[in-house]
Amino acid sequence: MSDIAAEQVREELSNWLDENWDPDLTVHDWWIRLAADAWAHPALPEAAGGRGYGSAQMSAFNATMADAGVLGPPMGLGYMLAAPTIAMHGTQEQVDRLVAPILDGSVGWCQLFSEPGAGSDLAGLQARAVRDGDEWIVTGQKVWTSGGQVADKGMLIARTDPDQPKHQGITYFAIDIDQAGIEVRPLREMTGEALFNEVFL
Ligand SMILES: Cc1cc2nc3c(=O)[nH]c(=O)nc-3n(C[C@H](O)[C@H](O)[C@H](O)COP(=O)(O)OP(=O)(O)OC[C@H]3O[C@@H](n4cnc5c(N)ncnc54)[C@H](O)[C@@H]3O)c2cc1C
Repeated sequence: MSDIAAEQVREELSNWLDENWDPDLTVHDWWIRLAADAWAHPALPEAAGGRGYGSAQMSAFNATMADAGVLGPPMGLGYMLAAPTIAMHGTQEQVDRLVAPILDGSVGWCQLFSEPGAGSDLAGLQARAVRDGDEWIVTGQKVWTSGGQVADKGMLIARTDPDQPKHQGITYFAIDIDQAGIEVRPLREMTGEALFNEVFL
């Protein structure tokens, strides 16, 4: 973890913003610029495109961005959930392939955890994944999938070893949403909007 002082974070970032913030850039070009200089997700380790910042340094980062009135990083479930998880548990190849496109906002993710019969007690999940040569065959249903209708990728958890106790034998997959065999159905709310989805695998 970085031991840089919060005051130094403020100074470095302010100087960088003076040189790089340009309100005429497209949002995506701004995110590419943030990611290229490791300002998109400074809490991630350096090997994942971050700076290894802890909470005090992140407070300084967030305050400096807000004070400058500049657009922040891409956010979303990929940014908040997938990137830190893959940075911590993935191989370097997985980090390079999966985290970088999250940080520059080019790939959006959804979370495929909850199921009709597995919510708070997620260890009750029924989705199965069975290895078939180089592929995994996944069957199951997910629910409450925020933003599933616009996501490129999903963080899916599925049971891969049913002989293990129920809190084990579960694997985390990074899957493409746009592929044969995955159907995303919107859940229409009383507001008329459909933010959540059911996803059939
Ligand atoms: C805004 C929002 C966005 C969400 N987005 C996603 C998403 O993108 N992807 C995703 O996978 N899920 C998502 N969820 C689903 C969320 O994670 C579920 O609400 C959660 O899994 C709870 O499941 P459930 O609704 O089946 O409730 P249950 O687990 O059935 O719980 C119902 C009630 O019972 C209580 N309860 C449950 N177990 C116990 C226990 N053992 N002891 C005492 N009380 C208990 C709970 O506290 C709750 O009050 C989202 C939820 C919300 C609100």
